[in-house]
Amino acid sequence: MLMTKERRPAIRTLRGWAISVLQEAGAIRECDEHGWIQDRADPHARERAFVMARQDPPPGVSAQAATTALAEVLEGIGDSCPECPPEPG
Ligand SMILES: [Zn+2]
Repeated sequence: MLMTKERRPAIRTLRGWAISVLQEAGAIRECDEHGWIQDRADPHARERAFVMARQDPPPGVSAQAATTALAEVLEGIGDSCPECPPEPG
């Protein structure tokens, strides 16, 4: 089921756009305390994000450039917040 599309904020960079798409798809999340972006390692959410990027790239950006931007964001982030202490146990 598609989520209701909300008004998107102005996006200044392709990377910023890619992050917003990944967040919308649920592929990444931000640490509540520190704001670091973390990979949620959810292949289905990733797939959704790539479909969204291909179908609805930013104005003037090709579908391929849009999906490349998503891949670059995913490559550059970890799956945990670098500032949060590791979970006990
Ligand atoms: Zn944190």
